[in-house]
Amino acid sequence: MILETVRSSLKNLAIRIILFWILLSGFSLLLALSSNPIYVTPSGDYHIVKEGETIVSISNKYALSVDKIKLFNNMTSDRVFVGQKIFLYPHKSKKQDFVTQRKIPGNGYHLVKPKESIHRIAKMYGLSVFDILDFNDLNTYKLEPGMKISLLPGRKSGKTSLETNGSAKPKISEIEKETSVRSEVPDSAIDFILPLKGTVTSEFGLRDGRPHKGIDISAEKGDPILAVQKGKVVYSGSQRGYGNVIILEHRGYIMTVYAHNETNLVRVGDAVGKGQPIATVGQTGTASGPHLHFEYRVKGKAVDPRSVLPSL
Ligand SMILES: [Zn+2]
Repeated sequence: MILETVRSSLKNLAIRIILFWILLSGFSLLLALSSNPIYVTPSGDYHIVKEGETIVSISNKYALSVDKIKLFNNMTSDRVFVGQKIFLYPHKSKKQDFVTQRKIPGNGYHLVKPKESIHRIAKMYGLSVFDILDFNDLNTYKLEPGMKISLLPGRKSGKTSLETNGSAKPKISEIEKETSVRSEVPDSAIDFILPLKGTVTSEFGLRDGRPHKGIDISAEKGDPILAVQKGKVVYSGSQRGYGNVIILEHRGYIMTVYAHNETNLVRVGDAVGKGQPIATVGQTGTASGPHLHFEYRVKGKAVDPRSVLPSL
């Protein structure tokens, strides 16, 4: 009898312990979910700005100071834009890239070695990345080892840079013919949106006898500049004349360029959506006032953006 009672109370105790355990683990799981609200965005290290949000509301949401948000995102004002990617962690700086300057070889070419980028090669020879793009018919921004990169203008086609940039329309049809992807070039460019609403102050083509490789759209300093099409950030930095500049790569051998930015809001390697704010209007580089210098490049070569942009 006594034994029986002991046994049943032991059984009771075991059940209670198990119940308590289940309750406890459930509770701690709930606690873990609610006490760590930082990692709620898809990647955990950025936030996409939604309608009605401000830098202060984002600061509160992630318990991250406004100053830190501005620092991590290279921001010069408190303005944020719907669709903007706000980084919640500092940019991991890459190893310092030291380049020894050298003279352009007699044959005018550079043979690409593993891990060499357009940016690195341009630096090596005192050129800008746009020189490299202008001088070569590059299908993509990424270089492959063994490629021969021209460091001088007019090597491949035998044309001068003035000729190639002065006549935009024949250039497109030329490219369509030679790439045999006739439909792909216009297809991917057909639904471009405007990178910025503003006044066109300078057209593509010759300007004071020199090629102007894009169009200038003037707007207020700090206004958001949008990606005209989904793509990938292949360059975000500063280049001679261009100031702070972003290069996006899109399908169909297309690149778009956004220059003189006050702030670059995206980083190399980022995938960007169509209409995503990627920079703010500024007047860095050679610019007489705040404006966007926008370029449309097919296989690296500048083509009149009017041929693909909605009317401005
Ligand atoms: Zn311009």
